[in-house]
Amino acid sequence: MLTSGGDSPGMNAAIRAVVRTGIYYGFEVHGIMRGYQGLIEDDISKLDSRSVANIIQRGGTVLKTARCKEFFDYEGRKQGYQNLKKRGINGLVIIGGDGSFRGAVQFSQEFNIPCVGIAGTIDKDIYGTDFTIGFDTAVNTAVEAIDKIRDTMDAHDRIFVIEVMGRDAGYIALHSGIATGAENILIPERATNIDSIVESLRETEKRKKLVNLIIVAEGEKFGGAYEVQRAISEKMPDAEIRVCILGHIQRGGAPSCLDRLIASRMGYHAVECFLEERYNVFVGILNNKMHYIPLENAVKTKGKINEEWLKIVKILAS
Ligand code: ATP
Repeated sequence: MLTSGGDSPGMNAAIRAVVRTGIYYGFEVHGIMRGYQGLIEDDISKLDSRSVANIIQRGGTVLKTARCKEFFDYEGRKQGYQNLKKRGINGLVIIGGDGSFRGAVQFSQEFNIPCVGIAGTIDKDIYGTDFTIGFDTAVNTAVEAIDKIRDTMDAHDRIFVIEVMGRDAGYIALHSGIATGAENILIPERATNIDSIVESLRETEKRKKLVNLIIVAEGEKFGGAYEVQRAISEKMPDAEIRVCILGHIQRGGAPSCLDRLIASRMGYHAVECFLEERYNVFVGILNNKMHYIPLENAVKTKGKINEEWLKIVKILAS
């Protein structure tokens, strides 16, 4: 098992679940350090039940994680395969995001190693699952921070542009924006229209609504929070507009109850996949039921933003 790509709170709960379920069913479970990097460098050790004690409540990942350039090359992946073969390891659990799954698809096709994925990313940018491990914690962290900024916004009658994480997806922005009562939410899935934002700011000004919150997803295509601030300032030179980039606090911290729960369930079911010979899938949850989605589908398909949510933002901002 390895954790790969960006870390997300709840990965440790998934590691614990895989180790303990694996041992329960008679498997030997090995932990690979620093994702595909450790696979290539043979940084692998056997895990027992005790080695995953007292980690369910911790953020980050005890297996560490990395982005590994060498794994993009055939030679790197071949080295990884040889290390697994040498140790008699014949299956791989990958906890990570779509990039990590892309690597797994390539690896399993080339070397016939059965792979099972667990969706671990704060960005929730994986198609076929309602949840990814870490998203709930990240959104709650963002909400807590935005609430605090709102207090100062209110005290000073200011416009705030707050940038949240999410890479190429707008889920963190959309969820945290609705939950904090944002007037505008700018996401990569939708083109940003500065004129319509300015229009809404002027309109709210007329109604004496002086506090205005604009949430920007980091992957938003107009150019990010500072660019949005600059463009609005150009059209509204008297407006006081502050920018805050929430950054990496959204990745850390103790996982929420929901993230621990889904990580435990996904870890358990990932091991069951090996028992049932259900390979090259990742474990997802749809309508509270476990689903096994081909890794390739997660890689090829992009999830869609619910348009109705954007309508809700507009109506509730009045
Ligand atoms: P997050 O969503 O948190 O960023 P991720 O899994 O999408 O996580 P990536 O950086 O995209 O993170 O991918 C993690 C690692 O997976 C890469 O550093 C690389 O080692 C491997 N990987 C990604 N794409 C491929 C690919 N096409 N072929 C081989 N390996 C890949």
